[in-house]
Amino acid sequence: MSERSWKEIPIGGIIEEAGNADSYETGSWRTYRPIWDAEKCIHCLACWIACPDSSILLEDGKMVGIDYAHCKGCGICAFECPDKISALEMVLETDAAAAK
Ligand code: SF4
Ligand code: SF4
Repeated sequence: MSERSWKEIPIGGIIEEAGNADSYETGSWRTYRPIWDAEKCIHCLACWIACPDSSILLEDGKMVGIDYAHCKGCGICAFECPDKISALEMVLETDAAAAK
């Protein structure tokens, strides 16, 4: 996707075409990255329900990972994950990137 000049951006920054969120990769906005522990996860899907960016990935009704291209790192998923489970941990993006 090419960058637009300010003259090409609609007044108010409104989204003119519906269903285009997938085209805008917002993962680079993150300060904290949710790290998922598949061993601890009980697939209750509380994180999936709460994620405002639809970034919790499911297959056959079970969580399989996180869409880091779109996850903005808000931390709601980790907050909603049951305390006794704690399958999601928010880690500084710089630390997570360095750990790779
Ligand atoms: S940190 Fe926020 S955007 Fe990212 S997966 Fe969790 S709830 Fe979704
Ligand atoms: S809220 Fe926690 S236990 Fe539930 S599906 Fe998400 S990561 Fe797994």
